[in-house]
Amino acid sequence: MHRNALVLFSGGQDSTTCLAHALSQYERVETLAFDYRQRHHVELEARLNVLQHIKTTFPQWAHKLGEDHLLDLAVLGQVSETSLTRDMVFKMEASGLPNTFVPGRNLLFLTLAAALAYRRDLDVIVTGVCETDFSGYPDCRDDTMKAMQIALSLGMDRRLLIETPLMWIDKAQTWQLAHDLGERAQTGGGDALVQLIVEQTHTCYLGDRTHRHDWGYGCGTCPACDLRAKGWVRWQG
Ligand code: ZN
Repeated sequence: MHRNALVLFSGGQDSTTCLAHALSQYERVETLAFDYRQRHHVELEARLNVLQHIKTTFPQWAHKLGEDHLLDLAVLGQVSETSLTRDMVFKMEASGLPNTFVPGRNLLFLTLAAALAYRRDLDVIVTGVCETDFSGYPDCRDDTMKAMQIALSLGMDRRLLIETPLMWIDKAQTWQLAHDLGERAQTGGGDALVQLIVEQTHTCYLGDRTHRHDWGYGCGTCPACDLRAKGWVRWQG
């Protein structure tokens, strides 16, 4: 019986939905993010705002929300040159992967998350990876997650569950999932959680918080905004 979870929580739409999932499922939930010198610190700021708003909007979740962790992963900037950490234009590489791809990044994230979970006595790691997503990052695949679950459980000699609530759903369904989770928590909570995600979460690669759309803030044209916007339109449709 799993009771406690650690959520990989970046402050975006996906990880906020994962956080709501964990809060609806587990008794104690802690959150984790990595600072790898993202070009834009708005995501790290957004995540603190999301946590604060979740506590005030969903009192029955507030007492479950435990410690928030931020790990310094500046070393990632030394091993990779991508448009996420350097001032480069987002584009698709010849490999078919976008240049936001940091090889093995999620493997590193999960290993550190597992070490933290071990120390904090948390037995589930929740992450918003998704195979339905446009980018097709190989370290977000379901098989990669299952292999990591086995490797980490063996390597730490403790049974660890890696949970991926978004693995097989698209962005429209992610909006719906957030609505369902909010509604299940309290009457009217569906709209409240969607509104919270629209207002407080951050997805835009360019760190744009000046342009407000129906689906939230962002430049509106980068691949992350595009995905979020299209999902919103399909969900609203
Ligand atoms: Zn954008």
